[in-house]
Amino acid sequence: MVDKNRIEKAVAEILLAIGEDPNREGLKDTPERVARMYEELTAGYHDNASEHLSRTFGESRGELVLEKDIAFSSMCEHHLMPFFGKVHVAYIPNGKVVGLSKLARVVEVYCRRLQLQERMNAEIADAIWQELSPKGVFVVVEAEHTCMTARGIKKVGSKTVTMAVRGDFSEELKNQVLALIK
Ligand code: ZN
Repeated sequence: MVDKNRIEKAVAEILLAIGEDPNREGLKDTPERVARMYEELTAGYHDNASEHLSRTFGESRGELVLEKDIAFSSMCEHHLMPFFGKVHVAYIPNGKVVGLSKLARVVEVYCRRLQLQERMNAEIADAIWQELSPKGVFVVVEAEHTCMTARGIKKVGSKTVTMAVRGDFSEELKNQVLALIK
């Protein structure tokens, strides 16, 4: 698990490095708080998507399932800054479906790690593709990256949109999903 002691020391070191006093009132518990926060924000390393997707229900119709607007917050691995937004998961079942809350659990497994939006998007699609063997899966992620909006070019409110498709997902169906998540 997370070595909180080590994080605390490192955070105190950062505070010193930027010229702060780690012992002043407002900062004295900060290293410990940050250590606890990192434990929570990286809990996904110790969680497994296949466990959340193992309980399925029979469903023979094979019509589109869309769980949209799954809110998430993750941390960009390039800057250790949050990026957050929404994940939309669409799939066409091939005989089995999973409880809708489980799709949100899968998002949690992959967002609670150091991430790249593109990789998180692919990992969510791959997990559903592998575990549910659907006819097709289409995952869209839209996120605001604070490493872009709080520093650097400061484009507040700008969003990055990524998509991942596995299996059979026609252009027509993709466009339907995109219209539904607008
Ligand atoms: Zn970044």
